[in-house]
Amino acid sequence: ISFHDLFLSRPLVKACNSLEYDHPTRIQSQVIPNILENRDLLVNAVTGSGKTASYVLPILEKLHRRDLRTSKVSNTKIGKTRVLILQPTRELAAQCSSMLDNMNKFIIPKISYTTIIGGSSMKKQEAELMDKPDIVVATPGRLLDILMNSKSIYFNNIEALILDEADKLLEMGFQEMIEEILKNIKKDSDVENVQTCLFSATLTKDIKRLASLALRDPKLISE
Ligand code: AMP
Repeated sequence: ISFHDLFLSRPLVKACNSLEYDHPTRIQSQVIPNILENRDLLVNAVTGSGKTASYVLPILEKLHRRDLRTSKVSNTKIGKTRVLILQPTRELAAQCSSMLDNMNKFIIPKISYTTIIGGSSMKKQEAELMDKPDIVVATPGRLLDILMNSKSIYFNNIEALILDEADKLLEMGFQEMIEEILKNIKKDSDVENVQTCLFSATLTKDIKRLASLALRDPKLISE
């Protein structure tokens, strides 16, 4: 099986080739088609399984297809944040953004994104969110801080939400913040169903509880 067989278009297959990914990993071959089909997913996968690319690739693919259909011109903004990716730590958020960077290289028009993490200027990040990048990668604490502080930032066009390393998100005490962010998105949303995918190395009771709160009729995928 190749990346092409997973319904990814040429720019993204090229990106995989450039990273010397010869074949999709097991997780990728299961997750990619399901995200493309708009399913909610509960994915049991550890670091090293290729899980980051398993959601980055189909998310970019979907945004790219839409951009082509609506003939978005390079560097002009549709002006909607359509995807939110939550990560437990700054390091993981940075890794995810660097994967976005690698995969975005071959796509025209470009997909825009920003990284919202603690430790850097909140004002600057607030301005970046106001610009409505296509994708926001964030840690829950900083994102919620900004949402609480700003009257003009809301997520009324989020179509997909990724909760990565959900066990770690809970371990770090982000449970309530995630629930708050979920409420925020649903309250603001003009989108009927926000496709949500939860990735976790373990499937504990707490994870299942979060899954039942966040996911709609999820498909379970494990390695
Ligand atoms: P992750 O599980 O997302 O932390 O990825 C672990 C490592 O595997 C990262 O360094 C990726 O660049 C790499 N990787 C992801 N997908 C593939 C693939 N299909 N073939 C080879 N390496 C990959």
